[in-house]
Amino acid sequence: MTYTNFKIETDSEGIALITWDMPDKSMNVIDGTVMDEMDVLLEQIEGDEAIKGVVITSGKQAFGAGADLTMLQSMLGDYAAEKAKDEQKAAQMLFDGAYRLNKTLRRIEAGDKPWVAALNGMALGGCLEIALACHARVASDDEKTKFGLPEVKVGLLPGGGGTQRIARLVNPQDGIQMLLQGKTHPAKKAMQLGFITEVVPAADVVETSKQMIRDGLKAEAPWDQKGFKAPINVWSPAGVQMLSAGNAILRKETYANYPNALNIMKCVYEGLLLPFDTALKVESRYFANTLTTPEAKAMIRSLFINMQELNKGARRPDVPKSDLKKVGVIGAGFMGAGVAYVTAKAGLEVVLLDRDQDAADKGKAYSSDQMDKAIKRRRATEEKKESLLGLITATTDYAALEDCDLVIEAVFEDKGIKKVVTESAEAAIGKNAIFASNTSTIPITELSEASVRAKNFIGIHFFSPVDRMMLVEIIMGKKTGDKALAMAIDYVLAIKKTPIVVNDSRGFYVNRCVMRYMNEAWNMLAEGVPAPMVENAAKMVGMPVGPLTLNDEVAIDLSQKVIKQTIADLGSDAVDPRHVKLVNILVDDYGRIGKKAGKGFFDYPPKPAKKKLWPELKTLFPQLDASDVDINDLKDRYLYTIAMEAARTVQEKVVTDIREADVGAILGFGFAPYTGGPLSFIDEVGLANFQKRARELAKKYGDHFKPIKLINQMAKDGDTFYGRFKIEADKEAA
Ligand code: NAD
Repeated sequence: MTYTNFKIETDSEGIALITWDMPDKSMNVIDGTVMDEMDVLLEQIEGDEAIKGVVITSGKQAFGAGADLTMLQSMLGDYAAEKAKDEQKAAQMLFDGAYRLNKTLRRIEAGDKPWVAALNGMALGGCLEIALACHARVASDDEKTKFGLPEVKVGLLPGGGGTQRIARLVNPQDGIQMLLQGKTHPAKKAMQLGFITEVVPAADVVETSKQMIRDGLKAEAPWDQKGFKAPINVWSPAGVQMLSAGNAILRKETYANYPNALNIMKCVYEGLLLPFDTALKVESRYFANTLTTPEAKAMIRSLFINMQELNKGARRPDVPKSDLKKVGVIGAGFMGAGVAYVTAKAGLEVVLLDRDQDAADKGKAYSSDQMDKAIKRRRATEEKKESLLGLITATTDYAALEDCDLVIEAVFEDKGIKKVVTESAEAAIGKNAIFASNTSTIPITELSEASVRAKNFIGIHFFSPVDRMMLVEIIMGKKTGDKALAMAIDYVLAIKKTPIVVNDSRGFYVNRCVMRYMNEAWNMLAEGVPAPMVENAAKMVGMPVGPLTLNDEVAIDLSQKVIKQTIADLGSDAVDPRHVKLVNILVDDYGRIGKKAGKGFFDYPPKPAKKKLWPELKTLFPQLDASDVDINDLKDRYLYTIAMEAARTVQEKVVTDIREADVGAILGFGFAPYTGGPLSFIDEVGLANFQKRARELAKKYGDHFKPIKLINQMAKDGDTFYGRFKIEADKEAA
């Protein structure tokens, strides 16, 4: 028998070795063809008496990444089409689809031949679920190799028996965390937790697995053995306490915004009360139910499909790949030091330049500190640190930039200084080198006036902290050319971050949305809404970082600078006087400039004490009674003001690819991920509903909620963002 995705060889001892190696894919994933072939494989194995046991491994570096989510998307499409005709049939079809993997995997587990998963590399999601259905799992000891069930992060739940097998293998606290946080573990930790059987060097996983079979591994899962007891009894005092506390924590952390998370809890609770086969059916029902939620649809699209497309360089113009080896970073301060670190971490040479050697050295020392921390956490070694530091040259000499392919400036936010730096760098670098600015506020077109090669001038805007923030915003000046864009994208992908490409505008894309978020919080404070409600309403609607916390982190004196600059550039009408008053009181009267000073909207006492809202906030504006504040209005105000701004950037053609607006808002400042991003949010609400609610909010809270032209037009046309704009993006991609 020959297969496309698998190879099967049986040795003289009757051990069949299945090697999973999908053609034309860098990574194994579970798709329709894999599921079809797995069933045929099972038939072959069950019918072949010569086969005594089975080892399944991968022909690739990793074992597998999970299910192909585009397959789930098309399953949903079929469901929607059928639902229009016959709702009951559609529901059955969806359940059958959801149950399919469970059925196949249970056949492995309940069969009479022992199976061992030889996990030579990472196994995530559905691929780990295949392994969990085997009778033992042998995993590579490489610390970087991860095992886990991250489905929760894309709005789903592990639907291949993962919720049931983890709940029966791992202690309840760690198990539930693994399912609810999607946390992955290296093999040794996974073995301690109980879901990996043995840990050996990657080269030995197959042989060790075979030996287990030779040693008489039983073809019976623990839960199929008499007297099996799960790590927790749901009805015991400990079980009741654990699960009720678990629900409370879940509620506190998600505010019920994630139906998949709640469904995971239900799978665990209900599943543990049932015989295993029934429990698997229950899991499949919850999986099917989860799949039909708007949250799953939105999260799969934005956080998986769109993000994957952007990470493959969807916006890259068709010019030859740049041979990027050496990057110059000018300004070794807060941002420059971070940029140098992530660049060297990607194996690129870095020239880190500052005004004086001390500043340059200090910038390089940041990389050294980061590596020390990584060594402490056993994520790096002394040798790795030495080789990374060896890539960074700290200097004051522009001549050192000579053979850089790309130079990124991160000097003070000052047009004059940036001009001098641009001129000095361009005098030193080659004609084809690209020059980028990390400015957060100055238009790229304006800065490019200092350049003699404006087509090679581009914005590469990082977010802080550079090493943790996964988004980089690339900004096209009016004259920026394709080669500069391609180089910027190649660079961002090389440092393993997600690029979005936007056109020049004040605040570009992400900061325009962030400003709306913080401004709305300021509006609420000025109206007298109690500060805890201002912060908590944002959390309730799914923003991971409240606006006042975010403002403290960004720094309130920076907000003051931005306000002053806006007034200088656009006049005093461009700024709400209440905002000016609030920010001036905080900064000028009380020195409350944010977290860096230990005081802003919050007080930051020494750890372990937690931050607390500054009690005097309530004295700044006459306070409303909490019972007079409509919390639903507060929640909507955050989502609507940001979503309206995102739509405005589309209207103004600052954002030209709606995938980037959604992904950028989630990665850039955590816009309620369950919505799939601001434009997905509008689509889900429906344009006409969005328009109506925005008008209501405008009447009560100000003109900034008034629907913009594009929204009105789309509501009239009965359009959606993904309907109207994605098609164009698809056409371009094709
Ligand atoms: P910073 O003050 O920490 O660092 C600036 C560095 O530039 C300093 O080390 C300074 O010595 C150096 N410098 C100043 N003039 C120079 C010159 N003529 N030649 C060489 N080096 C010079 O500032 P930062 O927060 O790192 O910000 C740098 C840039 O990044 C700014 O344009 C800022 O708008 C942008 N940015 C900042 C953030 C943030 O969160 N701080 C986020 C995104 C973008």
